[in-house]
Amino acid sequence: MSDHHHGTTPPSDRALRVRAMEQLLIEKGLIKEGAVDTIIDIFEHQLGPRNGAKVVARAWADPAYKARLMTDASAAIEEFGFAGFQGEYMVVCENTPEVHNVVVCTLCSCYPWPVLGLPPTWYKTAPYRSRVVIEPRAVLEEFGLSIPDDVEVRVWDSNNELRYLVLPMRPEGTEGWSEEQLAELVTRDSMIGTGVAAVPAKGEPA
Ligand code: FE
Repeated sequence: MSDHHHGTTPPSDRALRVRAMEQLLIEKGLIKEGAVDTIIDIFEHQLGPRNGAKVVARAWADPAYKARLMTDASAAIEEFGFAGFQGEYMVVCENTPEVHNVVVCTLCSCYPWPVLGLPPTWYKTAPYRSRVVIEPRAVLEEFGLSIPDDVEVRVWDSNNELRYLVLPMRPEGTEGWSEEQLAELVTRDSMIGTGVAAVPAKGEPA
């Protein structure tokens, strides 16, 4: 598995056991090399974050839904049937022209699984967890995101109880788009706050 390693500590006992099992399955011909990476990739990039993208797109398209989402995020998200483990107590942080929100778990890797799937590897690394609190603008620059000086950056530290979802700003030029079209613009990183929603090409629905 793509368990690249940061820092100087050896991989955990569990990581070693998982890798040994994966290797055994490959040797027995039960799975192909890379199969586990593919599955992880699907959960990181496709299945999980597509749920969050639907929530964001509805909030953009439907002011009444957005009001419910900002008041009681867990209940509003559950309207889609997205609920359960690691998503029981959700809070949505709205990006505006004045405020940019970014989410971290400084203690470990708490992440809103029902809406975003599995956390990306970088989210779990010590450098991200420690630095985004101390120098969020510098960390966001490394993601290719320049936050203007007059925009406040707020960092939200997830924990055992609370999980955060960033509501990115709706891109300009998307008036009249359907929820499905809008959802295509919502990237995983835009819902963590290390990115923003994609810009529509030529103002045409994706
Ligand atoms: Fe955590």
